[in-house]
Amino acid sequence: MILLWLCACAHDDDDDGVDDPKKPGVTADIVSSTVYDATSDRDGYLSIPVEVTEDGGIFQVVVTRERGMLSTEYLNGPDGSAILDWEDWYDSSFSLTESFFPTEFATTLNWPVREEDGPLEVGSYEVIISTLDAQGYYAGRENVQVEVLTRAEPNAARGALRVVVAYAEGVRDEPDVVASVEAAVDYWVELYAAVGVTLEPEYSDIAVDAELPDTYEGLPEISAFHDSQDQRTLLMVVGERIAADRWLYGEAGGIPGPYASADHAAVFVSWLANAGSDAEFQEADILLFGETMAHEVGHFVGLFHPVEDGWEYWDALEDTSDCTGMGACEGSLGANLMFPYPVCTGGSAASCLRQDVLSGGQAGVVNRYVGVE
Ligand SMILES: [Zn+2]
Repeated sequence: MILLWLCACAHDDDDDGVDDPKKPGVTADIVSSTVYDATSDRDGYLSIPVEVTEDGGIFQVVVTRERGMLSTEYLNGPDGSAILDWEDWYDSSFSLTESFFPTEFATTLNWPVREEDGPLEVGSYEVIISTLDAQGYYAGRENVQVEVLTRAEPNAARGALRVVVAYAEGVRDEPDVVASVEAAVDYWVELYAAVGVTLEPEYSDIAVDAELPDTYEGLPEISAFHDSQDQRTLLMVVGERIAADRWLYGEAGGIPGPYASADHAAVFVSWLANAGSDAEFQEADILLFGETMAHEVGHFVGLFHPVEDGWEYWDALEDTSDCTGMGACEGSLGANLMFPYPVCTGGSAASCLRQDVLSGGQAGVVNRYVGVE
């Protein structure tokens, strides 16, 4: 099933052996991909080679398995030096990538993340991941599937992102919901355009129950959906509820999520939560819904909250405040798209502050996601 994507290689429109630059309005698939099966060593480690063939290249390593935990541990540079060591980040108050934390089914490392992490030079990099059991102990000789994605970075400040907005079963039968989703997507397009990302949304359907599970549990229908697409794309599923939680607005399948076929390679949004307590979309609900989409996909392409709402954990970016209390954080970051919750003075969406700001550092993270081509 993954074989489909072995051909999603660098695009050469005029067949002159040179990859053509991106044309405005046309998104050539410029991501190259290598897929293979592998087995961790007896200690539970697996070394994954990554060839960066152009200065300033971007890569993403996605490792999946049928069951059990996975974690990314190290990234070594062409000269053998350690670029990333999981132990520097595991207990840190600052978050760079979720890939250092053991997760079920998959681990995804997108690199570089911040401006100071790049640009990458040409050479052979090495990503070391581990296979773990359900208790988090190393488990040796485990079978995994590896996908290595690479692309050049023709313009670090802009790119295009293909998104399929797919309705879960029955949602498309609600005309008001469909109209509100489309209006929210239009606003999301504006929010991303402001940071150089040309969103290319398409609409589709996916045969899953509108009562969506927790995104991390994943669904086989999500892998199947990706495998059926002509082009690699980010998937956002619109359901009625997520994990039976009336107030969960949306959830992303990773920070970052995989730009590859996997059961959790999706962002879920709940139309019901976003419609507010009256379950009907008013104008302000639609704006909040657009910000939910932009926020959750922001997670998927690598953004953490600038501060978590216990005010003790922050993202690893220099240009988002490291504030230390609710008042200070709502004051300095309340208008940020990635603030952990909507900042409202009353019970309705009309009383909420617009959260439409991304810092230069955050914009850079988004543009370095391998799928923002
Ligand atoms: Zn969030």
